[in-house]
Amino acid sequence: MVYDETNKYGIITIMIMKCNRCNSSDIIRITAKCSDAFWIEYPNSNIYEGYVPKSTKLGIDIGYSDYVEFAVCLTCKRIQEK
Ligand SMILES: [Zn+2]
Repeated sequence: MVYDETNKYGIITIMIMKCNRCNSSDIIRITAKCSDAFWIEYPNSNIYEGYVPKSTKLGIDIGYSDYVEFAVCLTCKRIQEK
């Protein structure tokens, strides 16, 4: 759900995320700038180090390039698909 609200700073847009699996609104969003210090180990023990890869390479969307960014539902513990 997205709506605009007016406060002392002007109009701000409020976005309430709903889990795309269980419909809960207990969602946390995580952002971390890591640039090329990203590291991931795949199930075959291959390790990738570098910038955050595109979701098409991983199969899940956890950000891209300089940033690790994703949202997790605290109710069902699932990463939210965009
Ligand atoms: Zn959920």
